[in-house]
Amino acid sequence: MSPARINLRVLGGAREVGANSHLLTLGSSGLLLDAGLHPRRQGEEALPAFGDTEVEVEDIFISHAHLDHVGALPVALKRFPRARVHLSGPSAPLAIRMLRNAVAIARGRVAPPSGSEPRNVPLYNDEQVEWVEQVLRTHALGARFSLDRRSGSAPSAVLFNAGHLLGAAGLLIEHEGRRIFYTGDTCASAQHISCAARYPDPPVDLLLMDSTHGADPSLHLARDEHGFTTASEELGEFISTVAARGGSVLVPVFALGRCQEILGVLQELRERKRIPPLPIFISGLAHAMARIYDAGREEPGWRCSRLALEDVGYRVLNAERWNDPSLLASPSILAISSGMMFAGTGSHLLAGRMLPDPRHGIAFVGFLDQESPGYRVAQTPRGEAVELGAPFGKVEVACSVRHQGFTGHSRASQLLATVERLQPRRTVLVHGDDQAVDLLAARIRDRGLPTEVTVATPGLELTL
Ligand SMILES: [Zn+2]
Repeated sequence: MSPARINLRVLGGAREVGANSHLLTLGSSGLLLDAGLHPRRQGEEALPAFGDTEVEVEDIFISHAHLDHVGALPVALKRFPRARVHLSGPSAPLAIRMLRNAVAIARGRVAPPSGSEPRNVPLYNDEQVEWVEQVLRTHALGARFSLDRRSGSAPSAVLFNAGHLLGAAGLLIEHEGRRIFYTGDTCASAQHISCAARYPDPPVDLLLMDSTHGADPSLHLARDEHGFTTASEELGEFISTVAARGGSVLVPVFALGRCQEILGVLQELRERKRIPPLPIFISGLAHAMARIYDAGREEPGWRCSRLALEDVGYRVLNAERWNDPSLLASPSILAISSGMMFAGTGSHLLAGRMLPDPRHGIAFVGFLDQESPGYRVAQTPRGEAVELGAPFGKVEVACSVRHQGFTGHSRASQLLATVERLQPRRTVLVHGDDQAVDLLAARIRDRGLPTEVTVATPGLELTL
């Protein structure tokens, strides 16, 4: 008997970092890999192309709790009502909290503040998020589980720590002698809190790989191994310099992942007296996430640092205080979302106040999409004006701005090493902009790795 047909269809996250979702058809039924929302699009436009398939989806795997991977899950469950949702134990509370926050923002119940438009047209409501909660099935790292099928043989699955943030997992699927590995967002080196990603033994038939940093200018391995430590030292120096002249430092962060890692970095810098004992402010959502991080402190395999984030002694900064004149009167560290400074968020509003004042500093610590306000600010030389968007318009960059080398994703050299190690027969590159996926594909070919490389395009379909 010939093995069942395995088919992959890309529903989102092709040639971009957004709306990640891929449909893997194993025999007669489907497994959806992630169900993300596009961070820059509104309403239905932000969804993956769920409508494009006749396949019955029986299972959904959520790699981690960032909205570009889980934000469309309630919509996916409406479209595929019989699906079970598989994810890691720590991902479950993080994902539910993120979905509830997405509902609150879309319905205007929380920030963005007065005067700006809600960022999303509501795609689902609290009840639908509750429904999601009912169908979650959590799995431990390395524990094999089977995707039960109403007919045909059951594929088996195993989660691997993806290193990207608490609970982030890659998924190995084994079905009738074939092996498929989906990395999710992956980080092959340890961060302050998260351990480095782990990968299955080779070989695999199909590798579906995160390509965020595929276009790194250098393939220098030493920088990757020490990148996080070097970036921490540089951030410490930057904060000390700004504080010494009476300024505050804005660190735009994602509320989930980057913020908790930066809290760990700041705590270490403080303990080593590399920065003065300044107040640290984070958002309410980041605080909720930090509590879940602390609850997951003893979960085996996830966290390298046992630091309790509540011991950092941060303060929660609510949206009402973003415009408070007293907030910037004395030096502090503001680790506030969004990481890319999207209009109407706390980091955007604070940047509008801080950019024209030469005392202050802004330190970007994560990935910046080329179309984000954060990218424009990071690229503008001091003394020139940057278009920040409403309500600010053009603003002079008088404060100091840095883009530090932190990342929660594998560098290009590590992505190449992952391909080399997993020995995939086919490699499909997802989750990267045009430049990242094209350059990474060229680098894999140049290195002569024996894999057939495909850059995912919207709607791409391939059969194993
Ligand atoms: Zn992510």
